[in-house]
Amino acid sequence: MAKRQSPKSIVLCLAMLAAFAAAAFAQVPSPNSVLGFTPGDDRKIADWRQIVDYFQKLDAASSRVKVEEIGRSTNGNPMIVAFISDARNIKKLDKYRQVNARLADPRTIASEEELAKLVEDGKTIVAISCSIHSTEIVASQMSMNLAYELATANDPETKEILDNTILLLIPSPNPDGIQIVADWYKKTLGTKSEGTSPPELYHHYAGHDDNRDWFMMNLVETRAVTKLFWQQWFPELVYDVHQQGQNSSRFIIPPFYDPINPRIAPSLLREVGLVGYKMAADLEARGIKGVATNSTYDTWWHGGFRSAPYYHNSIGILSEAASVQLMTPVTVKLEDLQRSRGVRGLADLTTPLTNYPDPWLGGEWHASDINRIEMISSRALLSLAAKYRERYLRNFYDLGKANLSSDHENPSAFLISAKQCRPEAASRLIEILRWQGIEVRKVGREFAASTAQGSSANDLPKEGWLVFVDQPQSKNVLSLFERQDYPHRLLPNGEAEVPYDVAGWTLPLQMGVNYSPLWRIADVKELRESSKLVEHFNDVRGELGLPRANEPFAKINDPLKTSPKIGLYRGYTGSMDEGWTRFVLDTFSIPFSRISNEQMRKGKFDCGGEQCSSIIMPSDSPASVVKGLPASRYPEEFAGGIGDEGVEQLKKYVEDGGRIVCFDRGCDLFIDKFTLPVRDALAGLKRDEFYDPGSIVKIDVNTRTKIGSGLPAELAAYFASSSAYDVPMDASNVRVIASYTKEDSLLSGWMLGEKYLNGKAAVVEITYGKGSVVLFGFRPQHRGQSWATFPLIFNALEK
Ligand SMILES: [Zn+2]
Repeated sequence: MAKRQSPKSIVLCLAMLAAFAAAAFAQVPSPNSVLGFTPGDDRKIADWRQIVDYFQKLDAASSRVKVEEIGRSTNGNPMIVAFISDARNIKKLDKYRQVNARLADPRTIASEEELAKLVEDGKTIVAISCSIHSTEIVASQMSMNLAYELATANDPETKEILDNTILLLIPSPNPDGIQIVADWYKKTLGTKSEGTSPPELYHHYAGHDDNRDWFMMNLVETRAVTKLFWQQWFPELVYDVHQQGQNSSRFIIPPFYDPINPRIAPSLLREVGLVGYKMAADLEARGIKGVATNSTYDTWWHGGFRSAPYYHNSIGILSEAASVQLMTPVTVKLEDLQRSRGVRGLADLTTPLTNYPDPWLGGEWHASDINRIEMISSRALLSLAAKYRERYLRNFYDLGKANLSSDHENPSAFLISAKQCRPEAASRLIEILRWQGIEVRKVGREFAASTAQGSSANDLPKEGWLVFVDQPQSKNVLSLFERQDYPHRLLPNGEAEVPYDVAGWTLPLQMGVNYSPLWRIADVKELRESSKLVEHFNDVRGELGLPRANEPFAKINDPLKTSPKIGLYRGYTGSMDEGWTRFVLDTFSIPFSRISNEQMRKGKFDCGGEQCSSIIMPSDSPASVVKGLPASRYPEEFAGGIGDEGVEQLKKYVEDGGRIVCFDRGCDLFIDKFTLPVRDALAGLKRDEFYDPGSIVKIDVNTRTKIGSGLPAELAAYFASSSAYDVPMDASNVRVIASYTKEDSLLSGWMLGEKYLNGKAAVVEITYGKGSVVLFGFRPQHRGQSWATFPLIFNALEK
């Protein structure tokens, strides 16, 4: 039993408590007290270890901050999120998570009263994610200033934010890149290389493409953040903080540019605009010049950090601040800004416009400027989220609810067949859907449904999986399964207007998965009830005769039975296509050796002590491969490319019996330097004749060739400003492995001038001396997404 306390000792205790509280408050460490500098200072950088250390100290000292590890990065670094809110909210995080998870799935809410109670109880969940692109480093530093301010300030606006919102602050979703960039910056400070990009990808596989992965889930980082967002917390607002080139507007924020993706709810686009205008107004009020809206970035493409939220009924925001050179300040001249033209929505950077009312006309530009702008815009977002808490929660619920009613304009479901040429692709597709929180059901019985709009019903087998459209993520399901039809947008001069990213992505199509849309389904209610939700990947893998989920796919197909010695060219320019090639080889447990510039120049094509039997040349321009990084900015060990010596050595390698397998632009070097008897029919065509920024196209495969053997006669291939070959009739040393179909080769996306592509060769094998060169005109491993054409690569590597 507790000893009764005298009144005197109670008074003493209270005094001690007050003193303790004051001491605890005073002890919340500033970034400067931990790092020895203020984040944003010129030429100072905190690496990932320092950032994690700061957030842990903040967590220990402040009751407003709780830091959690959400997974490990590709290189094994901790990925963290800092929850920031009022201390009372932080104590009940799990309660608020559950409230929001119910709002995300309106099927869990039975009545208007229940909804009203949840809206009253809930907090607006806001996520801010910094520096997914690691050379756009300032936001990762800013995150510490923002966290410290929210942990210590007591002004009315901060209190309102803390009371009404829970912030999920991600200092970076790519910790490895922050470490790589910070190490490089510290190492090169004060040298000619200060402020340059590191001589490697800033994500082990993806580099800059780490922000092209948000529907594909190839990277462990994408999966960790996706789980946090779309399986656990369902943030109503997601803000992705980036930087753009230094000779640009100072800051680009929404509203975005056209085209919009018609699958995004119009109300969401309005909400995106509202946040952007709140940011713009707050920045203008603080005297910040050079802020642009309605420019450059569109909402067509699905795969970015800020676009994925739209398909989860959330508001996705992107900002792009003009860069410095990592943390080194720059001076921008008026002439540099005057030269910067051709940006969508901004005719030039010096004329005041409705979407750019206060031009910035040059001068010094520091990381601290970027830090300040990003702090103001982050607070603008948080302040809106706090003031309109109820409205955000209700709108979020309403969008999810609207997705639950089916219509006749769209399929009711998609069926993934159990009969697959590539069972591992089907299994991965289901895993991708589940990672995003999309419901997939195992068909439990035979049923009847129409597989085309308006057609009569067919009897369908009971083997397979169903993805119903009427679930809270309805728009995500449709956007992933349907073919994209990008609007035909031309500039006044007749040239194609360049979209922000690719035009088409239809996932089962580019993965080579056998699937069909189901329009009218007989006894749909009963079918749904009789089909079981997929909970465990091993159930799917078992059904498809695949190894268990933690085992690699290679065991199924054993794609390279003969274990050829594969060399993969990797210079220092940080080629994403090279990274994705490595990703595919690793995914299928195919061993390979790196071939460096130096090895190329010396003709040392060494694969584990033996001569390589194949060398892969990923897509990269000949200039980049031959010249590499400039000696004026990079240390000798990283400067230069394979050089003319390297080209000669490669020639000798093939003449002596070796094989080169090249992808897309990577083939241009060999067509030119080896005088191969093919030419790219699309080279030299202007953008009013031919244009395709990234689409899925149909190719015919010659299955009688070794490279085409075992593949379907028709395949979906990924074309991204790629090549199409003219092959002379009399070229006896050229075997056409695959061609773009004679007509209608576009399957999903956009293509201007398709006639230039139709019927041209897409993959050719050319005998050269005792060896051969295999040219892929398209990207057979595009961003690790185009599973349909992976087997062509595997076959090409075998000899
Ligand atoms: Zn970026």
